[in-house]
Amino acid sequence: MYKSFLIDLDGTLYRGEELIQDAPSFLAWLRDEGFSFAILTNNSTRTPQQVAEKLLRMGFYVTAEEIFTSSLATAEYLKTKHAGKRIYPIGEEGLIEALQKAGYSLVDGENPQDVEVVVSGLDREVTYEKLARGALAIRAGAAFIATNGDKALPTERGFLPGAGSLAGLLSITTGVDPTVVGKPSKIIVEMALNRFGFKQKESLIIGDNLHTDILAGKNGGLDTLLLFTGVTTQEEAETSTIRPTYSFSSLTEVRQWLMRKG
Ligand SMILES: [Mg+2]
Repeated sequence: MYKSFLIDLDGTLYRGEELIQDAPSFLAWLRDEGFSFAILTNNSTRTPQQVAEKLLRMGFYVTAEEIFTSSLATAEYLKTKHAGKRIYPIGEEGLIEALQKAGYSLVDGENPQDVEVVVSGLDREVTYEKLARGALAIRAGAAFIATNGDKALPTERGFLPGAGSLAGLLSITTGVDPTVVGKPSKIIVEMALNRFGFKQKESLIIGDNLHTDILAGKNGGLDTLLLFTGVTTQEEAETSTIRPTYSFSSLTEVRQWLMRKG
């Protein structure tokens, strides 16, 4: 029986600005039943407070402490591999705050030799100069870490360049592939289990995307639950080689299933 859940955000609890109707009551039910959960998102741009505020506005009761972004996962991962090193970040508030709160000294990258780690996330105000500094630092020997590999960012305008596209540009320029922290990497799963004290065998990862959520669960050794409320369609799931442990069409069905399991 599962005791803890790692739950995706976009496509699982909401779609952009649109609430998925049964999601707030699902989380409330988990809480009432004594299950543990954490929200696991690849989005590196927002701080946990900003994510919690959006969820609150939509009718969820979730605290900032229950939210784990790819930026937080990156900061945790850095502690294990690059403790105390000087970091040149390409990213927004969510990344900068996570690195600062973890105690890292951030450098402006003007001198490539000064940079020990380049961390790239989504930066919607990126400039050629920012990317140039990242590329020069990587060429000078800095480690290269990407918060997540999402190539496209779904928006009201359509699919815009994602964090993975910016990391890809640095990768093409330098010939160095980044260590990717976010889903589908097992790193974010391991960091989340560690941070929240969840046990691998008692945890289930829930999400709408076969190629990120479900693959991350598989890579991290967790059972997986695919929801058809977002990116992946039932048709795609049936023909894919990536097989989730479970699949459901709504969180209401998931709740009914968990109740039957007792
Ligand atoms: Mg999703």
